[in-house]
Amino acid sequence: MELLFLGTGAGVPAKERNVSSVALQLLDERGATWLFDCGEATQHQILHTAIRPRRIEHIFITHLHGDHLFGLPGLLGSRSFQSGETPLTVFGPKGIRVFVETALAVSGTRLRYELNIAEIEEGVIFDDERFQVIAKRLDHGMPSYGFRVVEKDLPGPLLVERLQALGVRPGPIYQEIKQGKTVVLDDGTVIDGREFVGPPQKGRIVAVLGDTRFCEAAIELARDADVVVHEATFAAAEQRLAHDYFHSTTTDAAEVARRAGAKRLILTHISSRYQGEAALQLVAEARSVFPNTELAVDFASFSIPRG
Ligand SMILES: [Zn+2]
Ligand SMILES: [Zn+2]
Repeated sequence: MELLFLGTGAGVPAKERNVSSVALQLLDERGATWLFDCGEATQHQILHTAIRPRRIEHIFITHLHGDHLFGLPGLLGSRSFQSGETPLTVFGPKGIRVFVETALAVSGTRLRYELNIAEIEEGVIFDDERFQVIAKRLDHGMPSYGFRVVEKDLPGPLLVERLQALGVRPGPIYQEIKQGKTVVLDDGTVIDGREFVGPPQKGRIVAVLGDTRFCEAAIELARDADVVVHEATFAAAEQRLAHDYFHSTTTDAAEVARRAGAKRLILTHISSRYQGEAALQLVAEARSVFPNTELAVDFASFSIPRG
């Protein structure tokens, strides 16, 4: 599990920072990539990475501002040309359907894969045996969502050495024991599977938040998360501007991570007014509130280890 930033700028593209998009690489977990936001030229950014568009399974759009959205039709079309054949689902606020369908229809773009569009509201928006995704509304003037990706706990490992000490040979019986079943050996020994399985491996939690002012919903989404991706459009001194434009400062983001009891914070959506030294200052501000903070740059990747 790894986060790969494709665009980390605010509002308009800059040479150093493209507009918003971040990929959650779930290659080991499900052989797939999930994308959060798709600003203009996201597909060009992808060309510089190992991401395969045909592997993109879900695209989550936090809100319908152009710097988070305008790259979507192009990417959807290219995925078709690049032999993407598996279904893809776009999750986004109300309006995402008419945007995508109109762009594809007027440009005569025909997709060779099944495209699902889900207009979301707050709550569980995706759930399968491995992952759950929860959405909540943030505070950005227009509907803007944050996403909490929860990896479900994995069953504990089979304690093979203990079984072998009892003389239980590997075979189909191991599968039954791993499932916690009670089995009887040929010699009449009763094995309670629950005693031969280690503790479950805790799943990871990643919160990716759209543009927002400091808000309670962000803290709830980030609760105990392994990683929180939060916008920091402004420096701490620009609290007034941040509030007026429905954005956050560095210390707003850090305060969210701190109150949520998160493990790690990554700042993104950085205004082009902060470059070089000024950008370093942003991290320092956030670290004064939440020490384990990093500043995303385009193409930065952060692996998210288990436990
Ligand atoms: Zn934005
Ligand atoms: Zn916005």
